[in-house]
Amino acid sequence: MTYVDLVLRTLSTGGETEALIGGDTRLTRSQARDLVFRLADGLTRRGVRPGDGVAVFIGNTPEAVLLTVAVHLLGCRLVYVPPEPGPGELAALIEKAEVAAVVVDPGFSDRLDGWHLQDLPGDPVERTPAADFTTVSYTGGTTGLPKLAVHPERSSVKWEAVRRMPPSTMLCNTLITHGSGAGVTRMALVTGSKLVLGPSRFDADAFVRLARDEEVATTMFVPPMMYEVLDHPDCPGPQFLGVSVGGAMLSPHRLRQAVERWGPVVFQAYGMTEALGIAVMPATEVDLSRPETLRTVGRPVPGMEVEIRDGDVWVRGPMVMEGYWGEPPLRETADGWLNTGDMGYFDDNGYLYLNDRSKDVIVTGRTSDNVYSRLLDDFLVTLPGIRQAAAVGRPDDALGEVVHLFLVTDDDNAVDFDSIRDSVVAELGELYQPSGVTIVSQLPLTKVGKVDKRRLRARFR
Ligand code: AMP
Repeated sequence: MTYVDLVLRTLSTGGETEALIGGDTRLTRSQARDLVFRLADGLTRRGVRPGDGVAVFIGNTPEAVLLTVAVHLLGCRLVYVPPEPGPGELAALIEKAEVAAVVVDPGFSDRLDGWHLQDLPGDPVERTPAADFTTVSYTGGTTGLPKLAVHPERSSVKWEAVRRMPPSTMLCNTLITHGSGAGVTRMALVTGSKLVLGPSRFDADAFVRLARDEEVATTMFVPPMMYEVLDHPDCPGPQFLGVSVGGAMLSPHRLRQAVERWGPVVFQAYGMTEALGIAVMPATEVDLSRPETLRTVGRPVPGMEVEIRDGDVWVRGPMVMEGYWGEPPLRETADGWLNTGDMGYFDDNGYLYLNDRSKDVIVTGRTSDNVYSRLLDDFLVTLPGIRQAAAVGRPDDALGEVVHLFLVTDDDNAVDFDSIRDSVVAELGELYQPSGVTIVSQLPLTKVGKVDKRRLRARFR
C-alpha cells in the first residue's frame, strides 16, 4: 500500500471537510480527490505513461500538491525542479533528469516551457494507484547543477502507521518541492488533516496570521524561520500540539525559548535530501534542566543505521536514497552507506550530536585546528543584543583561515566587538577568537530558508 492509496482513501470520506488551503483557494476532500483524478487524466491524455519522468516546476499551492499525488498515482517518476535556478541551469537540469513531460505553475511559466498546471485537468476518471513510483529531489548548496537524489517509494515511510496518527491542522512553511515540505504535505493528506500552505517564500507575518486564523496545531520550521517567529511581536502562544524543527543547526538557546513559549511540544528532526529521516529527538525528552537534551538531534529513526567514521556521520537504511540519477546506486558503490557530510558523535546513551557541516568547519592556526562554526553561532546568540549569528572562515595568509562573524543585532550601536571577543575566548578558548565582524540587517538564506554560509564565505573570495 503506497501513500497514494491512503490519501485517496482518506479523501473518499467526509467529502465536505476542508483538506487543502493556500492563498485564496480552499479545497474540500471531495474536490481534492476529484482534482487528483482530473490531473492524472490530463497527464495520460497528453501521453504520459507509467515509468515516465515528469518534472514539476511549482510553488506552494493546493493544485501543485495534488499534481505531485497524480504523478505518483500514475506510477511515474516525479522530478522536483528547484525554485530559483537561472534559465540555463534550468534547461540543463531538465535535460539531465531525462523527463517525458514538464508541468509548470503559471506563475513560473516565463522561465520554463511546459504544460501549464491550470490547463492540465481532464475528466475525473477513477484509477487504481500504481504500486511503485519514484521521487527525484534536487540537492542544495553545491556549486554547479544540483544533484538529483532518487527515492523509490517502496523504501520510504511506513505510511500505514502514520495514518493512525490523529488528524490536525498542519501548516507547511517550507517548499513543497523540498523533502521537508513534501513530507508535511503527505503526512497531512494521509492523516486526514487540514493542510495549510504558507507562501513559497517564508514570511513571519503570514505565519502569524495563518497560525491564528486557521488555528494551526502542527507545523515544521527550518531554524531561521522559527527564530523570526519567536522574535515577532505577535508570536503565537501555546497553541501547538507539535512543532518540528530541523534542516539546519538549531541553537539550543532558541530551542529553550521555543519550549518556554509553546510548551513541551517542540522536537528536533535530522534529515537531508539524500536521507530523508536520520534521527529524531522527541519533544517529551527535551528537558530544560538538562542542556544536553537541547543539543542532541536525538536517536536514529527506526530502521536507520548511523555510524561515525573519522568524525563524519554515515547512514544506511530505508530512508536513504537509491543513489543520484545517472550514477551507480549506493548499494553498488558503498554497500548502501552514505556520508552525510555532517560531523558528529554519539553519547553513551545513543543520542547523536552534530558538531558542524564539514564544509562549515573553520580550519585555522599553526596546527590547522578545527573551529566548529556551529558552536560559535550557538554561543553568540546567548550574548545580549545578538539575534542571529553566522561564523565563517575568512582566508588568511598566515593562518589558513581566521574566524569572521556576521551578526544580526537588536541595535547596531549596542554591540561592542572587544567584549564579544572576550566572551568568546572565555567560553570557547583562544582558538575560537574572532578576528572580524560584519553587522548585517539579515543573514542570507538559501531557497529552503537555511542560513547560506556559502554566500557569506564568497564575500571574501
Ligand atoms: P538538505 O539536503 O537541504 O535537507 O540539507 C541537509 C543538511 O541539513 C544536513 O546534512 C545537515 O547538515 C543539516 N540538518 C538537517 N537537519 C538538521 C538538524 N536537526 N540539526 C542540524 N543540522 C541539520
